[in-house]
Amino acid sequence: MNKELKDIVKAGKIPLLEEFYSIQGEGFNTGKAAYFIRTGGCDLACHWCDSKETWKPEIHEYIEIDAILQRVKQTPANTIVITGGEPLIHNFDEFCAKAKSQAFTLMLETCGAHNFSGVWDWVCLSPKQTKPPKAEYFQIADELKVVIFEEKDFLWAEECAKKVTNSCALFLQPEWSRFEKIGIMLVDYVKQNPKWNVSLQTHKFLRIP
Ligand code: SF4
Repeated sequence: MNKELKDIVKAGKIPLLEEFYSIQGEGFNTGKAAYFIRTGGCDLACHWCDSKETWKPEIHEYIEIDAILQRVKQTPANTIVITGGEPLIHNFDEFCAKAKSQAFTLMLETCGAHNFSGVWDWVCLSPKQTKPPKAEYFQIADELKVVIFEEKDFLWAEECAKKVTNSCALFLQPEWSRFEKIGIMLVDYVKQNPKWNVSLQTHKFLRIP
């Protein structure tokens, strides 16, 4: 972790971009109600990123973990999804310990490029070629979700699929802005390679956060 990223880790707090109670729109847990916590900060700069507002953690307010969990408890949510940005540029040990002590199911969405921390019930690894995952993430991942922007990304997906465990669920997801072009290609690919599943960002179709 570089100095800039080290400086943004603050005990008892995480930089919060947004939080909301909604439905998991993509991947294995599609359709499941969950409280989403989107953290600020990501150093990957994927050119097709739809969360560019997360890239600058310094502009996000650091919020007490206890205060966030208090707000989760005001909803019926029993599951928390931590997403970003890239959540694991921050250390999540403290957050997970506190959330687990309150019996929440914890799910993580990560690119896997930073030090692993926290205790999770579900880890969705969404690897990016700009900064590939550390080796340990391929063993930890419950779900591999590869975003397909262009045809050559299928090669990247296969490269990653070779490294995960046999129990890891495999998903290919069309990049949203190229859905029309990539969607059909992706369906054909999954029909030819049925170990994969199609993941769609259903929350965007439903127009929910
Ligand atoms: S890893 Fe995710 S949040 Fe970070 S730049 Fe890439 S798409 Fe955006």
